[in-house]
Amino acid sequence: MSARVLSGKELAASIRAEAAERAAALAADGRPPKLAVVVATADESSAWYVRSIARAAEKAGIACDIVDLGAEAAPGLIRDTLTALSADDEVHGIILQTPLPQGAKLEDLAGAIAFEKDVDGANPLSLGRLAAGLPAFAPATAEAVVAILDHHEVDLTGLHVAMVGRSTVVGKPAAHLLLDRNATVTVCHSRTRELPAVTSAADVVVAAVGRAGLITAEHVRAGAVVVDVGTNPTEDGGLVGDVDAVAVADKAGALTPVPGGVGPVTTALLLRHTVNAAVNATGNASVQAAGRG
Ligand code: NAP
Repeated sequence: MSARVLSGKELAASIRAEAAERAAALAADGRPPKLAVVVATADESSAWYVRSIARAAEKAGIACDIVDLGAEAAPGLIRDTLTALSADDEVHGIILQTPLPQGAKLEDLAGAIAFEKDVDGANPLSLGRLAAGLPAFAPATAEAVVAILDHHEVDLTGLHVAMVGRSTVVGKPAAHLLLDRNATVTVCHSRTRELPAVTSAADVVVAAVGRAGLITAEHVRAGAVVVDVGTNPTEDGGLVGDVDAVAVADKAGALTPVPGGVGPVTTALLLRHTVNAAVNATGNASVQAAGRG
């Protein structure tokens, strides 16, 4: 058996096109949407990711300011910057890029991002509201997991999903979103005993760990759906997921590729969220907010 490839490219393209159309309507109204990405790291893969967000935003007609505070930035400076951007009427979406300098913690600083501008769901208030079933921007990667399954018509109702990873950025919010879709969710982590036994009992396995090849054929039931969130740089400058794609493709029913799966959908959803935040801020009734968040 060779697993069906659950590409994210077509979905990402349609979300980007929709964001561009709505951004143009806002711009025509004199309120162009704007995203600010706060960076405090010299990490190369982070820089690559930020550049790709900026390129995608500009192509969609969304202004994108990269606010680079340097890898030595003090937590106080990062917090003050987020507070100032939160008060700036020209800015509609704010992302605090990770990793952060030593001593700076995302969960401490992200509270300074205004809830309405928190387009990557980093403020603990957003996660709390998400858990309570209240409107909030979900972290884009977590939302991308559900969006890609929806796009490929995987009906999550009643399915057993093994979510591997419990970070605040991916695993926990994805578990809430999957629960909202009436999946039965088991959240796994580094202390989970007998991981292969747990994941191979599931209909859907979502891997968000950050370890290349962690999920092997042994972890997957025949015919299962596998979503690979992992992005692990290889020595030759490539990118691989957390799933041993070659071995798993022979056993799973469907598998998201890396690259070209969750990644492009994540970036596209950040654009959609930014436009939604701009629509919410301007109260422009002629440009409807799209999707969740
Ligand atoms: P993270 O904060 O490092 O969390 C990793 C999670 O994996 C933790 O919950 C950890 O458990 C768990 N884990 C570690 N080793 C494990 C093992 N052997 N067995 C089971 N669970 C294990 O990482 P993250 O920010 O969630 O990111 C996860 C991956 O997704 C990374 O590769 C990242 O690059 C990628 N990512 C991709 C996108 C995208 O757009 N495609 C966006 C964000 C992140 P403990 O909690 O017990 O430590």
